[in-house]
Amino acid sequence: MLAIFVNGCFWHGCPEHATWPAANGDFWRAKIEGTRARDIRTDKMLIESGWTVVRLWEHQPIEDMAEAVDAIVCQARGTRKPEAYADLSGSE
Ligand SMILES: [Zn+2]
Repeated sequence: MLAIFVNGCFWHGCPEHATWPAANGDFWRAKIEGTRARDIRTDKMLIESGWTVVRLWEHQPIEDMAEAVDAIVCQARGTRKPEAYADLSGSE
């Protein structure tokens, strides 16, 4: 079982693109940090239930997302990843 999330850079506090609005700053910081905490809880529950969780960022090129998902599916199936994707996992 595979759960794929594509996180919005603003709403999930992307480390590269997070912005912290000055207006109502406390509200937005609590909102975004709450979303990040929920993501962690969600991932933990899914993993404990046997799911493989993949989180991608909306800023990632679609080709990179597809390659990352393909690599993870191959890994989960125990099949060999295509050579072109081998560098994504940092192993092999
Ligand atoms: Zn981003």
